[in-house]
Amino acid sequence: MSLAHGRHYLAIPGPSVMPDRVLQAMHQAAPNIYTGALTDMVPTIVADLKAIAGTTAHCAIYICNGHGTWEASLSNLLAQGDKLLAVTTGRFGINWALHARAMGAEVEDLDFGLRSPADPAALETRLRADTTHEIRAVLASHVDTATGVRNDIPALRAAMDAAGHPALLMVDCVASLGCDPFEMDAWGVDVMIAASQKGLMTPPGLGIVFFSDKAAKAQARADRVTPYWDWAPRANPAEFYQHFGGTAPTHHLFGLRAALDMIGEEGLANVHARHATLARAVWAAIDHWGAEGGTTELNIADPSFRSHAVTAARIAPEHGTRLRDWLTANAGVTLGIGLGMAPAGDPAWHGFFRVGHMGHVNAGMTLGLLASMQAGMDALGIPRGPGALDAAAAVCAAHPGA
Ligand SMILES: *Cc1c(COP(=O)(O)O)cnc(C)c1O
Repeated sequence: MSLAHGRHYLAIPGPSVMPDRVLQAMHQAAPNIYTGALTDMVPTIVADLKAIAGTTAHCAIYICNGHGTWEASLSNLLAQGDKLLAVTTGRFGINWALHARAMGAEVEDLDFGLRSPADPAALETRLRADTTHEIRAVLASHVDTATGVRNDIPALRAAMDAAGHPALLMVDCVASLGCDPFEMDAWGVDVMIAASQKGLMTPPGLGIVFFSDKAAKAQARADRVTPYWDWAPRANPAEFYQHFGGTAPTHHLFGLRAALDMIGEEGLANVHARHATLARAVWAAIDHWGAEGGTTELNIADPSFRSHAVTAARIAPEHGTRLRDWLTANAGVTLGIGLGMAPAGDPAWHGFFRVGHMGHVNAGMTLGLLASMQAGMDALGIPRGPGALDAAAAVCAAHPGA
């Protein structure tokens, strides 16, 4: 016997819940890729993506996941032996740096651990010390999905400017785009990467690279730009097929078009506000469960540096996996595991969970998820503080317009 029957809710930080409208948009015969609805639609997708990214610059779409955009972006900018500075605040930032190293870059880590945002002052100090301007680019995550941290990108840009350093600023928004506000042009970001399966509510398989005019010019000194990964024809194609370096990802595009329509109908500011409130409801519950002998704790202490797309939390290691397994088996809800927080095989590995609240989520889902978590804690005898669900409901009740 189980209460899991009914629609399963995969509450991991990507792939996110897909709207039926997205799924239905994909359910159609293969379209003509030379003329007609598909070719007419792609420029509208690019325009909408740029609006969500806060840019009027360039947008290249690849048939790849987020990892692919790490390499797509770098392959347009790197020359052998280039120096990069990786500002890391969790597993995703660390892994982007690994990819850059494998591609021949000399990467220095400016690491801020697993519980803190990047410190702009430390970045400024490091860049000031680079008097010969050897560092070509600074890599940073807007949101690191492993730690749930949201870095202050304008503050990092200001630190680079204060140091008078010409490096490009490259930012990973795979988790955050469509959830946490991002203003690529206003914030002085040169390269921004995103993917389809998180805030954009579409299956994994589209990687998006936005790049500024400065980054476009910097491509000239790169020494490994190959035809497939070259972002120039993708962003400014003379012929339709160049958008995708070959056959278009037809059905992903139909799905993405529907997702962008939904974002447009709700209004981007309202989408952001919804994510902010649902995130705060999750935080309120986790805070309350952690009181009075409970063991849950938010990974990032300062709310102003927490993502609205994903929440990373800690729990006593003896309870974490038990609770996640109970939820899948008994409530039809699956939480994310900890990522890069402790080595696999170490008992500490079990002491983490993540809640994805990105994309197609509403108060009913989030409050149902939280109530299910509390049911699981009580069923398993996991100690917890009181008042979590009241606190989460109060956050939703206070949502502007609610
Ligand atoms: C999910 C994610 C990635 C990786 O995306 P994949 O599609 O899994 O390759 C990279 N960076 C961040 C911040 C992410 O959240």
